[in-house]
Amino acid sequence: MVSMFLHELSRKISREWGMRVDGEVYGELVRLRFGNRCPYCDRSLKDTGSVIEHLDGMNQYRAGLHIPGNVLVSCRKCNSEKRRDDGRKTLILADCGWASFLSHDGSRCPESCATCRYWVTVWGDESERKQRLSENLEKIHKFRREFPNFEAATAALLIVLPDVLKKLYSDCQIFAESEINSLLEKF
Ligand SMILES: [Zn+2]
Ligand SMILES: [Zn+2]
Repeated sequence: MVSMFLHELSRKISREWGMRVDGEVYGELVRLRFGNRCPYCDRSLKDTGSVIEHLDGMNQYRAGLHIPGNVLVSCRKCNSEKRRDDGRKTLILADCGWASFLSHDGSRCPESCATCRYWVTVWGDESERKQRLSENLEKIHKFRREFPNFEAATAALLIVLPDVLKKLYSDCQIFAESEINSLLEKF
């Protein structure tokens, strides 16, 4: 339900701006900026399975939208590894999920951190790893700055959306529970 609401809100915003993420223009721009490579790990998307990726995840904590500046294409592996950060209520390494994902350089987490370990498998050498992570962080920041309307809208929405989503989530749960209970009484 949360994701459904975020998708509807995205449609409304995209209509107002006249730029869609499923259009040719946007797809071409993303390809140009990231050269058909995963924006997180640099692997060529020709060699790995690629998926549509939302920088700010579309869940109740990250409140990301399916709109220009938040949608790109990543490798399947990074998309799934990033979910650990996206699913955390509070982030420590950065103020958003994608920046947090790219901040696991092995210097600030406990040794057991699965994301830090993931980056070691991508770039074994520590100084290369730190450099590539920070380069990719900057590249994505730059990409986001190409959509100033989006950045402004996101900042404004992030003030109100988390509470709205929390309420939507809990209302849906209460509704589902009471529906299930009333159905159960019929059997
Ligand atoms: Zn990747
Ligand atoms: Zn870590």
